[in-house]
Amino acid sequence: MRAILLGPPGAGKGTQAETIVNEFKIPHVSTGDMFRKNIKEQTQLGKKVKSYLDKGALVPDELTVEIVKDRISQVDCKNGFLLDGFPRTLEQANALDNVLSELGQKLDYVINIEVDSKLLIDRAVGRRICKDCGQTYHLLFNKPTKEGVCDKCGGELYQRKDDTEETVANRINVYQNQTQPLIEYYTNKGCIININGEQSIDKVSRDIISNLRGE
Ligand code: ADP
Ligand code: ADP
Ligand code: ZN
Repeated sequence: MRAILLGPPGAGKGTQAETIVNEFKIPHVSTGDMFRKNIKEQTQLGKKVKSYLDKGALVPDELTVEIVKDRISQVDCKNGFLLDGFPRTLEQANALDNVLSELGQKLDYVINIEVDSKLLIDRAVGRRICKDCGQTYHLLFNKPTKEGVCDKCGGELYQRKDDTEETVANRINVYQNQTQPLIEYYTNKGCIININGEQSIDKVSRDIISNLRGE
């Protein structure tokens, strides 16, 4: 299965990605995670993209398309992958179409997680992530058993630098201007699945999985 997770910042893409990739045994390809890893490791790419992530602006399309192209050309993506946070512009969507056609592959689904912007700031500002394994929590909606500690690995939880109210508001704006047009683009291609993301994490997962299974 080749699928895309689409949705505004804080909609639950990363949270749902975990369930989907376990269910369908495909790699999780998150551009945000790849950029953060490069920033942490202070690579050439990391140095180029840091200021964009800090502001909540989009990284230029050329850089973004290139890392995705490299990633989905690897052998473990041959039989499928889940893209999370890519594409985010029409240019990226067109570039993805070209890469897939070069690879002789076809996109199966675009899972569009719908959440009203009123809820997004609280979701993103309350987000906490494990420093060691990357597991995502929420201060109110998805608490770890012990405050500040990862249930899975005991690692310390931290807050993303771009999860402040101001930066999230900017990211929501960027989403509305640059990414929302993709909903129409993929609706016209007939591969979109719209999911109500304002339900519990488990209910959203069940809705996504049953849709992907064609139930
Ligand atoms: P969220 O899911 O909360 O919106 P992400 O982890 O997907 O956050 O993205 C974090 C940041 O990484 C974005 O604000 C942007 O700077 C950069 N980024 C991620 N994916 C893309 C993309 N497809 N195009 C451009 N920039 C991106
Ligand atoms: P995205 O990758 O789209 O930016 P995340 O999956 O990181 O979003 O979720 C953002 C925050 O909201 C996290 O703290 C997560 O635990 C929480 N969250 C995710 N889905 C839900 C939901 N259905 N209801 C309440 N909180 C949620
Ligand atoms: Zn952990």
